[in-house]
Amino acid sequence: MNFPVPENDNSTGQARRNPGEASSRCPVCAAHVLERPDAAAALWPLALGGAHAPALFHNARFCAACTELSESLIDSAFLKSWSMQEELSRAALTFLDPAAPGPAPLIYLGIAGDYDPDNQEICERWAGLAGEQIYHISPRVDESFHGHDRMGIYEAQRQRRNSKATLILNSASQFWSNVAILSFNAYFPHAERFVLDRGTSETPASTSTTAFNQHHSPRQRAYIGNGSAREALIFNSGLSGDAMQRFLIKLALGMGANLLGPEFLATATARRLKRNFWLNHPVAPPITRKYKALRPIEGSWMLTLAIVEDEFALRICTPSGQTQSVLIAKGAHLWSGPSFDPWREGQVFIVIPQRNIFAGPFASSLYQAHMEGGLSDPELASLQALRTSHRRLPSRTGLA
Ligand SMILES: [Zn+2]
Repeated sequence: MNFPVPENDNSTGQARRNPGEASSRCPVCAAHVLERPDAAAALWPLALGGAHAPALFHNARFCAACTELSESLIDSAFLKSWSMQEELSRAALTFLDPAAPGPAPLIYLGIAGDYDPDNQEICERWAGLAGEQIYHISPRVDESFHGHDRMGIYEAQRQRRNSKATLILNSASQFWSNVAILSFNAYFPHAERFVLDRGTSETPASTSTTAFNQHHSPRQRAYIGNGSAREALIFNSGLSGDAMQRFLIKLALGMGANLLGPEFLATATARRLKRNFWLNHPVAPPITRKYKALRPIEGSWMLTLAIVEDEFALRICTPSGQTQSVLIAKGAHLWSGPSFDPWREGQVFIVIPQRNIFAGPFASSLYQAHMEGGLSDPELASLQALRTSHRRLPSRTGLA
């Protein structure tokens, strides 16, 4: 299926001068940018399978600064808020392949309150599915969204790039150690990364104690070194609502620009999305039409894009079945052409980060028929067949 991405810049009536590279405005900050259809930057987070997403889910129209902002602040805040215990229990394990480890969700534990009395740095703690510990140390910067102080946010985000992340393996199971390493790489793609091994036997010595010692200050070494004696859970700050809303707004801005082209930016919804994006407590524009309710494949992410009357919306269903929606655009004149028919029908994407799968689009009627048993779609059936019985996974401690 071809995605209905406009060929013309309707705001000027001119065809693109050079296919594959047209100038437009960044939907987040309105800076003039070149579209990069081949841009690797993912609108959908790498930690959730974004590297395998089709072009529609890429950040082709964001400027470089907003792409960085999106990855290092928006996505990371969303991952911290989303990774709730419910998501992490059964749903996270559903698709892990006992024969080939894949990335799985990490649990965000919060900011370590006892780390730096001078307040120069923060240390955030995460945990892996087999109890691995992760320490992420970065300069303390003000990341709040003060009205429209974009440059302040970019600067904060640039400073945060000087971060170090350390993964401490503690399972004797090769499988779970590999899951932890893959997850760690996907969650901290821009940090300087270190892996220390405290597992008992099986894990090979591909670790970097020397490099770790060279790159950390005595305080950092001492804090991380004492990790095993520390209480497992600290606290979780009240990130969740704002982080989820800003994440939805970001997706709507990126996908609106991808789907509707430069015309999107002139819409009232785009202006509202952009305005709300910079608020400290953003609210994603809600849907008001009746969208088809689809049964999810438990344990996967289901992303649905659909036009209902005068609304174009994105719906996200999390692995545990929680649904969130955001309005992308409003106004039937925006999608009058037949190239938008697939979206009028509704299209479903199924994402399984543990298997590096971003599948779809599936027509929503086909998806619904498959899920309700009226018709069997081979591709959907093959995705469901990947579900694992938890009993088939190796022991998390590595002991039988
Ligand atoms: Zn921008």
